[in-house]
Amino acid sequence: MINIYLYILNLHREEVDTMDTPASKPFRVGNAWRNSPGGGNVITSINPADGSVAGIVARALPKDVDDAVAVAEEAYRWGPWRKLRPDQRATTLYEIGRRITAERDALARLQMLDSGKPLKECQNMVDNAAYFFRYYAALCETWQNEVTSPRGEYFSMSLAEPYGVIAAITPWNSPIMAEAQKVAPALAAGNAVLLKPSEETPQLAIELARICSEAGLPEGLMTTLPGLGEDVGAAMVSHPGVRMVSFTGGTQTGRAIATVAGQRLIPVGLELGGKSPHIVFDDADFEKALAGVMSGIYGSAGQSCVAGTRLFVQKTLYKRFVKELVERTRNVRIGMPDDPKTQMGPLVSRAHRDKVAGYVDLARKEGGSVLVGGAIPDDPAFARGCFYLPTVIEGLPNSARACQEEIFGPVLVCLPFEDEADVIAQGNDTVYGLAAGMWTGDYALAWRVARELEAGSVWINTYKQSHIATAFGGFKASGINREKGYHGLRLYSQVKSVFFGMHDRPLGL
Ligand code: NDP
Repeated sequence: MINIYLYILNLHREEVDTMDTPASKPFRVGNAWRNSPGGGNVITSINPADGSVAGIVARALPKDVDDAVAVAEEAYRWGPWRKLRPDQRATTLYEIGRRITAERDALARLQMLDSGKPLKECQNMVDNAAYFFRYYAALCETWQNEVTSPRGEYFSMSLAEPYGVIAAITPWNSPIMAEAQKVAPALAAGNAVLLKPSEETPQLAIELARICSEAGLPEGLMTTLPGLGEDVGAAMVSHPGVRMVSFTGGTQTGRAIATVAGQRLIPVGLELGGKSPHIVFDDADFEKALAGVMSGIYGSAGQSCVAGTRLFVQKTLYKRFVKELVERTRNVRIGMPDDPKTQMGPLVSRAHRDKVAGYVDLARKEGGSVLVGGAIPDDPAFARGCFYLPTVIEGLPNSARACQEEIFGPVLVCLPFEDEADVIAQGNDTVYGLAAGMWTGDYALAWRVARELEAGSVWINTYKQSHIATAFGGFKASGINREKGYHGLRLYSQVKSVFFGMHDRPLGL
């Protein structure tokens, strides 16, 4: 299917602004393809498994934002989309989902090259992207506005209305899935979307825009701008035509975006960082807890906002649990993303790997002991990639920087705790509040602790489960608002109340 895309690209060749960099993949604004003026403005995506070029895309610039907003406003204001009944929009959303599934293998492979994530994980993400479109299509089929009980001679109702042009900005760790999580509900609610993917992983978002267009979405309603955050991202957030911003990424960036949005008085959805406590009580099922802790930190090589990065083990179990954890960590199979035996692939880039390594060095300086890992693997097969060994550290207080700051790599810090009160206090002692997990045989205890933990998602005797229909988002510095489920649709809608007068006589003063 990607070949068909290249064929379509050839058909549109005359519409391309310049073709100075024929090797770069253009993006499209309205019905015109854009390449990089002068040929120099490209984003090169590097395959983190071996350092090869995964793809070159034309780089959008702030002037493209102006054009894309104009096209999106036109499509939103004068096009049919916002006026369609939600069940009519559903037809196109189902078709987008169907086409994503039809291209699953090619998309997953491209995703793997861009991000370095194991192929199986990439296939899951593509599946999830398709589910998002199907789920929001189904919600459109059953969408109901509220009829409110009148308190006078009128008929009153509250309607969900779209905002207009939405800016959606995404990080590199879950391309296509994070993008579909925003684009599907935003379109379902009747909006137009400008999507800016991470510069590290720009290719899937371009494919998503193509698929939307091929599925019959009216031109201009979904535009991908593969640019840099500092110029294109910032231009999107501050553009007067953009009416709402949906952002997933780091807390510092989220704060900068919220500052601009606050000045402009436009709403934001922010999905930000985390430093999630993962708690093991001494009555837990040992095997399940161990497996849960490992998948909670080493899945996606720790590049997950909900990774269980701070392990709290009850003192009575601590030594035995950590000893076994270290043994099993030593046996995690690191490998190339397309090898089905691989359990952990590379990190997204050299720069990111160096940042992760820097945190481990810092932990050592702060007095921590690295029990396993803490280095780049010495196997020459990995020399050209961005691999880092799964790492377990102990001996740090919860106040240490390695316990407080988001490392976003396969680095687990272990902390012992006394009892329920102690682990609630330590678990909540962080600026973040994205997720938390616990393992125990005592459900009454689990319920009490779950209610006390300041986190948007809490897992009991499981970890990192997520569901399209279940709200997702963070407490404290981990975010504002919720995505997924009905919450996702509400995020991209504003409420308008309408009153129909039913009175026979004129209103009095
Ligand atoms: P960043 O915050 O660095 O970047 C996220 C996106 O924002 C990128 O597209 C980036 O562009 C863009 N951006 C950067 N600066 C600006 C700006 N001033 N204005 C507008 N856009 C801007 O995050 P990462 O890409 O490094 O992703 C990792 C982070 O994402 C982690 O903190 C992780 O916890 C968080 N995350 C949160 C999730 C959640 O649901 N809560 C889920 C997944 C990740 P560019 O690529 O060019 O820098």
